[in-house]
Amino acid sequence: MDRDPILLTPGPLTTTLRTKLAMLKDWGSWDGDFNAVTARLRSQLLDIVHGQDSHVLVPLQGSGTFSVEAAVATVVPRDGHVLVLDNGAYCKRAARLTQMMGRKVTIVPHAEHEAVSPAELEARLKQDASIGHVMLIHCETGTGVLNPLAEVAQVCERHGKGLIVDAMSSFGALPIDARTMRFDALVAASGKCLEGVPGMGFVFLRKAILDGCAGNSQSLAMDLHDQHQYMEKTTQWRFTPPTHVMVALAEAVAQFVEEGGQPARLARYTDNCKTLIDGVTKLGLKPFLKPELQAPIIVTWHAPDHPAYDFKRLYAATKQRGFILYPGKLTEVETFRVGCIGAIGRNEMSQAVNAVAEALHEMGIRT
Ligand SMILES: *Cc1c(COP(=O)(O)O)cnc(C)c1O
Repeated sequence: MDRDPILLTPGPLTTTLRTKLAMLKDWGSWDGDFNAVTARLRSQLLDIVHGQDSHVLVPLQGSGTFSVEAAVATVVPRDGHVLVLDNGAYCKRAARLTQMMGRKVTIVPHAEHEAVSPAELEARLKQDASIGHVMLIHCETGTGVLNPLAEVAQVCERHGKGLIVDAMSSFGALPIDARTMRFDALVAASGKCLEGVPGMGFVFLRKAILDGCAGNSQSLAMDLHDQHQYMEKTTQWRFTPPTHVMVALAEAVAQFVEEGGQPARLARYTDNCKTLIDGVTKLGLKPFLKPELQAPIIVTWHAPDHPAYDFKRLYAATKQRGFILYPGKLTEVETFRVGCIGAIGRNEMSQAVNAVAEALHEMGIRT
């Protein structure tokens, strides 16, 4: 097959030709034209969360996790104490990186098939006044659960705690409004719902806490306060920018705006998700989550209860038909995941359903 497979994965994901073509040019990092791209993009990203008055946008080189790490290092004092609401693999990763940077961590465990609980958060904050920050994963990509950002933000504001949000897999698709939800830091990346290519993250930092962040970071490369100051002063990135990733993201954001912004993106992904769930359910498979907890980003499926099932074979058989699936991330139950995001629509999703049907048939699995 001479076309690229469709990536049904939560980043990297399928991008448009227009986004890919934007990378066919070399840019100088000192050059005014490139710095204008950076400035325009920073402003457009602020618009997506209605954050022009309340926040600044600081981009950072690297994969999404680099920006999560940078947000924690920059926002949390070195002797700070972070409560992590944990209902999955990305929550555990956030807790681990926070701990490795020497901050005190309290993990509040939840079941993986449930959303985190704002009521439990409130009880924990009342119990322990030393907690200064709360960490929330908006959409836990390990399962696809949507966590209650607005409610968690309210609890944090009421108790005067800082909130750090990993909105990596939700930003651009699910509504996030800085005018009504208070967060100190919110993290996302180029290669997820904005449909850019992977290679950079970005963090919205609340203006009111910015000055207090000076000197928090124990890492030079991860210091977003320093990155922000340098960018404001010079219009340039500190250290080599991912120029091609940036211009691809600028082109992807132009298409995002043309499509109708966040509401339009949510509508397309919701339709993708529905097409997937309706189709694969008809094949006899069951989604792992209750519908009311399912974000239209990635769907976790129970593997067929059949001796012939093997994820590697399912992967190979669907890949041969042009679709790349994603393995499950749960330890207790056998699952696989299918992403609904990327520059794809209903046609691609129903073709993906057909590919899964044929693959199961080929494996001798009757469902
Ligand atoms: C994709 C993702 C990340 C970042 O992962 P990287 O592999 O570092 O890009 C972090 N959190 C969530 C919830 C994600 O979906």
